Formats: sequence, C-alpha cells, structure tokens
Amino acid sequence: MRTLVLESARQPLRDVELPRPRPGPDQILLQVRACGVCRTDLHVVDGELTDPKLPLVPGHEIVGIVVEKGERVERFEVGQRVGVPWLGFTCGTCGYCQSGRENLCDLARFTGYQLDGGYAEYTLADQRYAFALPSQYGDAEGAPLLCAGLIGYRSLVLAGEGRRLGLYGFGAAAHIIIQVARHQGREVYAFSRPGDLDGQQFARDLGAVWAGGSDVMPPEELDAAILFAPVGALVPQALRAVAKGGIVVCAGIHMSDIPSFPYHLLWGERTVRSVANLTRRDGEEFLALAPQVPVRTEVETFLLTEANEALTRLRSGRIRGAAVLLP
Ligand SMILES: [Zn+2]
Ligand SMILES: [Zn+2]
Repeated sequence: MRTLVLESARQPLRDVELPRPRPGPDQILLQVRACGVCRTDLHVVDGELTDPKLPLVPGHEIVGIVVEKGERVERFEVGQRVGVPWLGFTCGTCGYCQSGRENLCDLARFTGYQLDGGYAEYTLADQRYAFALPSQYGDAEGAPLLCAGLIGYRSLVLAGEGRRLGLYGFGAAAHIIIQVARHQGREVYAFSRPGDLDGQQFARDLGAVWAGGSDVMPPEELDAAILFAPVGALVPQALRAVAKGGIVVCAGIHMSDIPSFPYHLLWGERTVRSVANLTRRDGEEFLALAPQVPVRTEVETFLLTEANEALTRLRSGRIRGAAVLLP
C-alpha cells in the first residue's frame, strides 16, 4: 500500500510502499477514503511535538471503509464507513480514565503520533475508539469533523455559555465551531492574522458579527474566547478582550511561549485554560449534533501524494476551511 511517511522531524514526508497490515483482535483494517490535514500534523512534522513514533504515518481525521476485522470486533461490519480520531488508546484503569477524563490518561496513545494514521491507502484502528459517521457527509466533508470538529466542540463546551464568543485563528476548527455557536444563539467575533482580509470575509460569510485582525480589540467585550492559533502572544490579547469572569481557552496542543502580562488582565475572575485531546463522549455528542446544526464543512482536497504541499499551504495559512487528502 502507498503511504506518506515521516522519517525524521523537519523533513518532507516520503512516498513509501509498505505491506498492508493485518488487524489484531480489536482492530479494523480500513481502506482510507479521506484524511484531514490538521495543524497538529504540522507540529509533529515540524518537531514541535517531540514524542512521535518514527517512522510515522501521520493523519488523525480518517474516514475509511472497513475491509477486514479482528475476531473481537463487534461494533462495525465489513463495508461500513467509520471515522478515526486523534484518541487511539487509553488504559481504562487510571484515575483519569475512571473519572470520565480519558483525554488525560497518562498511557493514552494518539493516531498519527504514536500510532500510524491515515496518510495512506489503508490503516488500522482500534474499534473501541472509532465512530460511526453521519451519513449526510461525504468522505472529504466528514474528515474535518474528526478533529477540528471534535476538539473544537470540546473547546466550545469548556468556554462556558457566554453569548459573545471570540475565535482567534479562523481555520478548520473555527469554521466548524462558528456554525455550532450560532446554532446555540451566540454572537461570534472572529480574529485572523492581521491583514488576512480573505479569512475575515470567510468568517463574516459564516455569520460572524464582526471580523478583524488579532491585533485589534473587538467592538464589544467578550464573554469567552477560544484560541485556535498556536500563538502565545494571543493569550494576554484575548484576556484584554474578555469581560470580568471571562474564559480564555487555548485549544491547540502546542503554542509558542506566552509573554508575561500584568496581573490586572487576569484579575476580575478571568480564567485561562487549555483543552487536551478528546474523550469518546465528546465524539459521540458532537457527531450527533453536527447534522442537526447542520454543520457544513468547506474543504480543499489534495491527492495523498500532495501531502507535503497541503502541509506547506496550511503552515502559511493558505487553506480556506480544512485541507483533506484523498488517497
Ligand atoms: Zn488511563
Ligand atoms: Zn487534529
């Protein structure tokens, strides 16, 4: 099977033929139909996340068809379409797992990081962490739901119920979460890279009441802000933009250093928090909600062999919506 493989950090992915793997007892073998390209993949390829298995097949927004299954697999049938997210394994017995916080499991393993992912014609997944996908979505359109959607949704829940919501970084996750937030009756204020007028227009097209550069203040005080951009300098900037009691959620797995800032920005019971990974419950909730909104994803598709180009375009912010590879 054809795969795109990371052999060492900061090197382009290599186009490699590998033998098609066989499923273990709890595994399904999927023929990959589409695989989203997530910012986390960039952090892995660029060496900012330092614990990948190597060589590694990246990709954790996988839509595939079950072509073979292990002897213990009862959740899915051969021929069924499933989605595979970032969370690929948890221990099930640690304090985090036992308290509904499997996203924090110390022994967790992640798809496209410690487990080979979906930049390939075929991939293995553990049936216990895969999801059935809503039938309304095409393969490419469904892929971004599996990380941009799921982790974006967890970030939205943890941002609380305030009406005025800021989204910093208007990429794959924000373009999905703005639709959910509007469905919930919130006002969305979108921040993109300064000068990124296309991104700001994209946000307005999706219903943002205001869109501007991340270096300017919104016209109203916000109740909460979610930072999808991996830029630590946005933390004090977002704290300035939220009202007393406001929540600033850092949604990414990696961020540049946060500069020091005066305590008065945090004063007034403002909160800064991160969001880590997802639980399977987040996935079930979001995938039930998405077709009701209904969330529509905008995707730019690339051939599997164009994965390096897709990553380069994402790195420079030149993707509208989400990038998706089609094997
Ligand atoms: Zn655990
Ligand atoms: Zn991701």
